Amino acid sequence: MKSAVTVYCGASLGEHPGYADAARQLGQALARADMDLVYGGASTGLMGCVADAALLGGSRVTGVIPQSLVRFEVAHTALTELRVVDTMHERKALMAQLGDAFVAMPGGFGTAEELFEVLTWAQLGLHAKPCALLNTNGYYTPLLRFLEHAAGEGFVHRRYLDNVIVEEDPHVLLSRLSGHRALPHLFEEVAEA
Ligand code: AMP
Repeated sequence: MKSAVTVYCGASLGEHPGYADAARQLGQALARADMDLVYGGASTGLMGCVADAALLGGSRVTGVIPQSLVRFEVAHTALTELRVVDTMHERKALMAQLGDAFVAMPGGFGTAEELFEVLTWAQLGLHAKPCALLNTNGYYTPLLRFLEHAAGEGFVHRRYLDNVIVEEDPHVLLSRLSGHRALPHLFEEVAEA
């Protein structure tokens, strides 16, 4: 079966055209790697760019969107499949379930929330899927610096931070997803100690 990557990214385009370019490159790279896309289902911002490029390249693209956002007419109307759910919580659960790996591109609160949720769930052993950051224009470098600080202060386990894949090039990022090894989750570590 083909693998699918769940992409979290901005509903906005960002200030620099490089973000939209990177979203299109990621969509193209997914199609070239024969991978499918799962994402937030909108036609706007980086979300629309990654979806359009993946569709154009021949990937199956599944959007997962809550009914409340469909009403605002932000849903992409030309996807392979649009899954309309009742709540944002259901949406995140389904997006996490449908993807074999997670990639966060530049984005805002929504993207950060989705990213941190899948990182937390990996630590708790709720999934064993790779998590990656597409660090376009060094967008995530300040966040990575903060997370290093959090690890230094003893609030983030360094092994889990080190296990996050960080790349600027979408092709390199996708090739690293397949070689990824999941870590034992926190409670397995406690049991082994
Ligand atoms: P943000 O990063 O705040 O722009 O939010 C984008 C992320 O949150 C995406 O990965 C979506 O899953 C979700 N999201 C937030 N706003 C929207 C929207 N207007 N339409 C669709 N999805 C959205």
